[in-house]
Formats: sequence, structure tokens, C-alpha cells
Amino acid sequence: MTVTTAEVESYVGGRWRAGPSRFADLNPAHPDQILAEARMADASLATEAVEDARRAFPAWHKTAAPVRGAILRKAADLLEQRADAVGRDMAREEGKTLGEAIGETRRAVAILRYYAGQGLEPDGDTYPSVTGVALLFARREPLGVVAAITPFNFPIAIPAWKIAPALAYGNTVVWKPAEVVPLTSQHFAQALIDAGIPDGVLNLVLGTGVEIGPVLTGHQDVDVITFTGSNEAGKQVRRDATEHGKKVQLELGGKNPAIVLADADLDQAAEQIARAAFLSAGQKCTATSRVIVERPVLEEFSQRLAERARTWKVGDPLESGTQVGPIVSERQLDKVLGYLKLARDEGATVVAGGGREKDLPGYYVEPTVLTNLGPESRVVREEIFGPVAALLPVSSYEEAITLANDTPFGLTASLFTRDLGKALQFVEDIRVGVVKINQETGGLEFQVPFGGMKGSSSGGREQGKVARDFFTQWKTVYMDVPPA
Ligand code: NAD
Repeated sequence: MTVTTAEVESYVGGRWRAGPSRFADLNPAHPDQILAEARMADASLATEAVEDARRAFPAWHKTAAPVRGAILRKAADLLEQRADAVGRDMAREEGKTLGEAIGETRRAVAILRYYAGQGLEPDGDTYPSVTGVALLFARREPLGVVAAITPFNFPIAIPAWKIAPALAYGNTVVWKPAEVVPLTSQHFAQALIDAGIPDGVLNLVLGTGVEIGPVLTGHQDVDVITFTGSNEAGKQVRRDATEHGKKVQLELGGKNPAIVLADADLDQAAEQIARAAFLSAGQKCTATSRVIVERPVLEEFSQRLAERARTWKVGDPLESGTQVGPIVSERQLDKVLGYLKLARDEGATVVAGGGREKDLPGYYVEPTVLTNLGPESRVVREEIFGPVAALLPVSSYEEAITLANDTPFGLTASLFTRDLGKALQFVEDIRVGVVKINQETGGLEFQVPFGGMKGSSSGGREQGKVARDFFTQWKTVYMDVPPA
């Protein structure tokens, strides 16, 4: 076992603080390598973080928005300079390829810059008065203390798209990242610290959801919770937080469909669907896991997808040429392998992959294509979060839509076709928050609203300008002049 001496701590009230318990940050490509030890916070350190955020709020609120923006812009510059090192740590602790990890870091840079620019955007509206009030206007104000709870799979982009707008619009933040990505979290916090974020405005709390969650959902000084993660944890967070009167936003799981119509360009469809299903080892809320194919092209499409599943390079995220890295942890690996066993028990035919990559030391799963599963199969209904795609044949566009919508989730969906009429029809018919035509279900731009329908999201969209709707509240002002 290789152990490094790096220790990662929480950042509370402007100081790095060691919590009482320890968490070994493993490399999923080489689980015998401990990359760092996180000194995990307990409830009392998390409580301090909330209280520090509350104390810091009035001054941060009063700081002019362009000045807040200048700090975010500086953090973006620093993160950009550090992108290679940050990406390397992210690839080592999360398992995505180095290219994906550096790309994600650059995306966080772009998100910081975007919200820095929001500091110069209008912050309200003026209205004509029906009663003759001299000046009638409404403006946006921050909410107070935002608790951001984030998942492992986009360990810098998701924190960026929650924390950057929360700060830009004048809130202070307590951030609890996923346990397994402390190094990446430290890098993001460090960029903001080095850029001059005032003490208490950003607090990083490393800890478990079970220990820290109840502090964030229950403490009276937290005004808002923004959560991204699994449906199970999200529902618990929503129950607890709404009971304590907090505003809550949830971004949860997906079971995203891609429909391939008989007229589609099958190479384009196979390439895009393979990317959505297998890259990042399928650990994306926007991954494609149900591939609905019109019967006349099923055999040919299946071959093209399976060929990619068999030939894409699975391996160490730091090696050049690697396309698919490991699953993030042993727990997630067991979950994915459990679903592959279930698929066999449910009568699936394995077209490609189907098991663990046994020749490699890490938590690798072969890119997998399954068929012969019915719409009621658990493998077809539940989020797997691994590189697994199930093929579902249909006889018409209408049958494809019925099947695509037959899920409690509603995050993203793709349609592959040359028929623009069908594409527009699909935009109407599909019940998801993000629709793609001839593109993979994964892959988002930061300047447009993001979020899902049905069980995938609640409480308002993220990213783009709509983030302002969630992180601020209106204040309406009636102003008259005294009589002369
Ligand atoms: P997870 O639910 O296990 O953990 C997410 C975060 O919640 C972590 O920080 C965790 O510590 C915390 N947490 C867990 N239990 C908690 C509790 N009881 N109270 C408070 N916090 C708690 O999810 P994960 O495995 O890190 O991430 C994968 C999941 O995230 C998948 O379901 C995926 O679809 C979802 N996800 C959704 C989106 C989206 O935008 N919709 C984006 C990325 C990931």
C-alpha cells in the first residue's frame, strides 16, 4: 500500500481546520494507493461553519456586486493556471480520464467567469405606477446562507455552478462535497481563497452526509439548500430542510433514453450514444442507459454500438489514449456489478462486455450492451451509474415515445433522425428538462438553464441566468417625494 502524507482539511471561518475522524482518499485505478487523508468534520465543526457564514453575510451582501465578481474572476484565472494539476488530482481520485478532468476544470473556470460577469447585469426592474407613486421598482437580494451539497461525479463543475452564482448574488456558502473527492474540493476552495474571498464567506466542510447533512438541513442560520446527488439522499434532504422552512433545490438521478429512428445516421448515433453511455464510466446523471431503436435498424445499430463497447480503451485515467476509467469506489463497483448480475437473472442477452475488467487492478467495468430486457426490468427502470446500455426495440416513433416517457425520471433525452418534423414533434412529446437532437444526452453548456422534470429535479433550474431566480429574492420598493 502506498500512502502519501497529504492531509486535506475543512476550511471554516477563514482557517483550515482538521476534523476528528479520518477518511482515506483512494485512487480507484490503483486502490492500494492512498492519495490523501481527509480529516473529516463532525457536527460541531459544521455548526461553526454555518455560524461563520451567517456572521459574514451582512458585509458580503453589502459588498458591491462588481467587487464580488472581481474575486470570482481572479479565482477563475488562478484555477485556469492550475488546471493541469487540478485535473491530475481529479483523475486520480475520481477516475475520469485526464482529458475529461482538465476539461471539467476549464469548465469551472468558464462558470466562474460567467457569474463574475453577472455582477454587472441589471439586478431589478422599474415599473410604471398605477397610483402615481414617483418611483416603483423591484430588485433582487440575496437569501443569506446557502448550503451546497455536491456529488462525486463532477467534483468541480457542479460545485462551481452552485457556489459561483450563490456568491455572485451576495450569499455566503457552506459547501459539503462528496466524501471521495477531498483533493479536488480543496483545489476549488483554494482558488477562491487565494483570490481574496473574505473569511466566512466560503466554508468547506469535509464530512459524511449522515453526520453533516442534519446540521445543514436543521440549523436555523441556513436559509437555502442546493443539493445534487441520488434520489434517496435528496428526498431525505428535502424532507428535513422543508420541515425547517428552508428553500430547497434538488438535482437527482436520471434514466435517460436515446431514440434511434430507422432514418438516422447510424454511425453518428452509435458514436454519440457510446459517448453518453460509456465515457466517465457511465457515471453521469445525463448518461444514456436506455437505447430505444426502431426494429429495421436494430441489428446494424447494435453491432456498431457493441463494436465501440469492445474496442474503446479501458484503463488508467492518466494514460494517454484511455477512454473509459474506473468506477469511483468499491461500493459503486459492487452496485454496478450487482445490476449486471440482475440483468442476467432477468434474462438479458449480453451483446458486449457484461462484467468486471479482470486484467486491471482497479474498479473497472467493461462497457456493456444488453438486450432482451422488457420495460418492467429493474435494469431498465433503475439508475445504474455505470457504463451499461440496454437496447429496447420498437416498431414506431409513437411506441418509442411511450417507452421513453415510461420512467419516474425526466432529466435528458436524445433523438437520432434526419426528419426535422419528427425532431420538433419529439421536443413536444418528451418529458425531460434537456432535449438533444442528433447529440448525446450528456454534455451541457453553462449559459443555459439545466435541470429535469418529474423525479429528476425540483425547486428550480440551475446554471445560466436562471440561477438568479433560485439564489435571490425580490424586494419591491415604493418611493414618493415628500410634499413641497
Ligand atoms: P449521493 O446521494 O450518495 O451523495 C451526494 C451528496 O449528498 C454527497 O455529498 C453526500 O455526502 C451527501 N449526502 C448523502 N446522504 C446525505 C444525507 N442524508 N443528508 C445530506 N447529505 C447527504 O450521490 P453520489 O453517489 O455522490 O452521486 C451520484 C448521484 O448524483 C446519481 O444519482 C446522479 O444521477 C446524481 N447526479 C445528479 C445530477 C443532476 O444534475 N441531476 C448531477 C450529477 C449527479
